[in-house]
Amino acid sequence: MVAKKVLLRFSNSLISKPIVYRLVKDYNLAFNILKAQILPDEEGEMVLEIEGDRACYEKGMAFLKDTGVEVLNIDKRIVKDEERCYHCSACTVVCPSGAISIDRETMRVGYDPEQCIVCELCVGTCPPRAMRVEIV
Ligand code: SF4
Ligand code: SF4
Repeated sequence: MVAKKVLLRFSNSLISKPIVYRLVKDYNLAFNILKAQILPDEEGEMVLEIEGDRACYEKGMAFLKDTGVEVLNIDKRIVKDEERCYHCSACTVVCPSGAISIDRETMRVGYDPEQCIVCELCVGTCPPRAMRVEIV
């Protein structure tokens, strides 16, 4: 069994096709959509957690690539060091996924790893280096 997090990027012409559904039907894979951004007339992006038999997973990913979907493995994760963070909010400006947010009452900056697409933009932005990349 494998369980992997992947970022799928696909062109506008593929948006209406049941590509992700085929992963379940034809390759017996289970998936959980962690993030999806599909805008009219633009490319779409989806972050999925995919689980299943290793051989089925490899075939499913090959199918996606053959269909024209760009598949990026997210084999890293972002960790927030709470001891270092002084809640300056600089990272909230660059985060494209909504993984970083400010609690308006306390003005503290929170991080939700489930929403992170590991773009690493916050890492270089954080003055005390509280956001760091970890290989998983
Ligand atoms: S790496 Fe940082 S900026 Fe990028 S999505 Fe994750 S938390 Fe947001
Ligand atoms: S940029 Fe760094 S110090 Fe500032 S809020 Fe984000 S994690 Fe905290």
